[in-house]
Amino acid sequence: MLLSCVIPCYDEAENILPFFQAAEQALLPWKQEYELIFVDDGSRDNTLKELEKLYQMAPDRVRVVSFSRNFGKEAAIYAGLHHCVGDYVALIDADLQQRPDYMAQMLRFLEQHSEYDEVVAYQERRNEGRMLTFCKTMFYKVIRRLTDLPFTPDASDFRVFRRNVLDAILALSERGRFSKGIFAWIGFPTYSMPYQVEARVNGASKWNLGKLFSYAMEGISSFSTKLLLIPLLLGFFLTGAAILLALVLKVLAVVGILHVTSVGWLALLLLLLAGFQLQGMGLVGFYMGKLFQESKGRPVYIERLVLTDSDEKP
Ligand code: UDP
Ligand code: MG
Repeated sequence: MLLSCVIPCYDEAENILPFFQAAEQALLPWKQEYELIFVDDGSRDNTLKELEKLYQMAPDRVRVVSFSRNFGKEAAIYAGLHHCVGDYVALIDADLQQRPDYMAQMLRFLEQHSEYDEVVAYQERRNEGRMLTFCKTMFYKVIRRLTDLPFTPDASDFRVFRRNVLDAILALSERGRFSKGIFAWIGFPTYSMPYQVEARVNGASKWNLGKLFSYAMEGISSFSTKLLLIPLLLGFFLTGAAILLALVLKVLAVVGILHVTSVGWLALLLLLLAGFQLQGMGLVGFYMGKLFQESKGRPVYIERLVLTDSDEKP
């Protein structure tokens, strides 16, 4: 099998058949050497019925996985990836906003460029409001700063990659899946291809500002523990400020410029104690961050290539 396409579907009944036809058309040159894995993410409309019809039509290249309820797009992608048997894998939405012929171009690119393992489509021009564009740009700035990972700004989940990338993704068994972060974390030479998002013809986007915000928080918290260090830094700052202030006040008192009352010294003492407390919290946060990283059980490294004349496996 050459290509496995993973297609998450949530309430996409009207889009299933048009998507299938467009995908079949785009993948014609590969002569049915592909499989289309549709993951019905607990749809409330007729999506599953449409998928069953499709399966009856082409059981050799259509696979259907249906969830017991809506688990979200990330879970649908993860489930689909477990079913892939192809040498290449494509992730594409069911709503035709990401054109299947573009996916074919991405596959062609990978076939011709062995130096790359992955092609990611990014939006050259966003057709969104200014506020949303600004929020997304800020999100990428913040997450790059907090994680030190090479997030491609405006990168979508629209990707085609080789089997070695799939194996690396599945090696990250964490429950909170944030695909953009996982792709950035695993590395691999990636080519970014500009693409234009099509308008949605049927159905509606499942995103709103609240969902986007929790998605952003999921991303930051899954890939960075730097925020846990804020109390530690604040604690150092408060302690330093309290000690400095105490010294200055003592000197001024000795020289006779200022008389500090016992209430003043008490306030300083409280400031010092608050600093120590914050440092304690920060230290606990530091170890919690370590525990959090360990609990994810991510691999220590990912090999891309090994050149050796020995058959022995390490
Ligand atoms: N999707 C899903 N589960 C969800 C929400 C969305 O599987 O809970 C699918 C949806 O059917 C579509 C893709 O994920 O194929 C992208 O969703 P959507 O079009 O709502 O996102 P947008 O294109 O607006 O970013
Ligand atoms: Mg869409």
